[in-house]
Amino acid sequence: MKITFPHMGNVCLAAKALFDGLGIDYIMPPLNSKLALEIGSLYSPEDICLPFKIMIGNYMQAIEKGADTVILTGSCGPCRFGEYCEMQMNLLKKLGHDIDFIVMDMPKDIGKKELLNRINKISSKSKKTKLEKVKALFNALKVINLIDEIEAKAHYMAGYEIVKGQCRKILSNCKMESLKCKKTEDMINLLLYYKDKIDNVSIDKNKKPIKIAIIGEIYTIIEPFSNLCIEDKLMEYGVSTKRELTPSWWVKNMALSPVKLNQLEIKKYANEYLSFQIGGHARECIGEAILAHKKGFDGAIQIFPMGCMPEIVSKSILPKISKDKDFPIMTLVVDEMTGEAGYITRIEAFVDLLERRKDNVLSRC
Ligand code: SF4
Repeated sequence: MKITFPHMGNVCLAAKALFDGLGIDYIMPPLNSKLALEIGSLYSPEDICLPFKIMIGNYMQAIEKGADTVILTGSCGPCRFGEYCEMQMNLLKKLGHDIDFIVMDMPKDIGKKELLNRINKISSKSKKTKLEKVKALFNALKVINLIDEIEAKAHYMAGYEIVKGQCRKILSNCKMESLKCKKTEDMINLLLYYKDKIDNVSIDKNKKPIKIAIIGEIYTIIEPFSNLCIEDKLMEYGVSTKRELTPSWWVKNMALSPVKLNQLEIKKYANEYLSFQIGGHARECIGEAILAHKKGFDGAIQIFPMGCMPEIVSKSILPKISKDKDFPIMTLVVDEMTGEAGYITRIEAFVDLLERRKDNVLSRC
């Protein structure tokens, strides 16, 4: 069994830590690129959402290197993600690749027993002791928590940094060097070193940067390639950004959902506008927009792939929130045809708007 997995932001670091720790053979697809998207777009249904296409690109590149098993998180929810596994399996079969899929669904959807069976299917390939396997899992969780924390700090502190570009450089070096680590322990030590580095970046607390919340469909906001690296661009402009949805948030959400203690704050705020789950993370998107306003952010940017059903619903609700709260929200829709120049122009115009609003408020004080 040679495992592969699709890229989804920082998930690749946790997956690397896990499989290295378990001593299981795996193939990490090359980082997302135009080539992966081109391959995925060539073979995928034209009107399927962008994550599907990029994932197919990832699988094809990994299959070329010998991968025969895909590990994917699942969802039996009402959006297309619930069908990804079946569709992707059939598509790969039609292309002549008999690939095994192991889907990590929520226990409430497939039952604890089935989830354990699936986990067992992976862990049985490891020659490590039970204790070592548990350690590998904990180390992977440690990795995802650390990298998400470093990333969140870098994104937020970019607005306060004294040396322009320092946060961005630290974050980029951290990710690149982590991918090169041969042992999980080395990766954890490296992440701790970078956590310390980002904690000690010189900042000017008197600065009043523009603060933007990044909300929307989970894949497109956590995978930088799919959103044309919007957070990097905003860091360059000296904007502080915050994104609630991260891979570590997802793990926590999945662990707490059986006891209904997940995302209590987001649900509370979303309730007034969208009181039930409609698939994807539409409800979270609504709750996060209100939360960002409450936390004093200057605006929010919603990002989602063309045709994303849940986010189209939240897009139709966001103008009402924007009006009710006097809170600017911009929506960016991405697909394989998105042109970078027009995309950047919209981001810059939005930042300009927020700056002018902020200047007006400050001049009135
Ligand atoms: S949330 Fe949207 S983009 Fe993601 S799988 Fe569902 S429909 Fe597609």
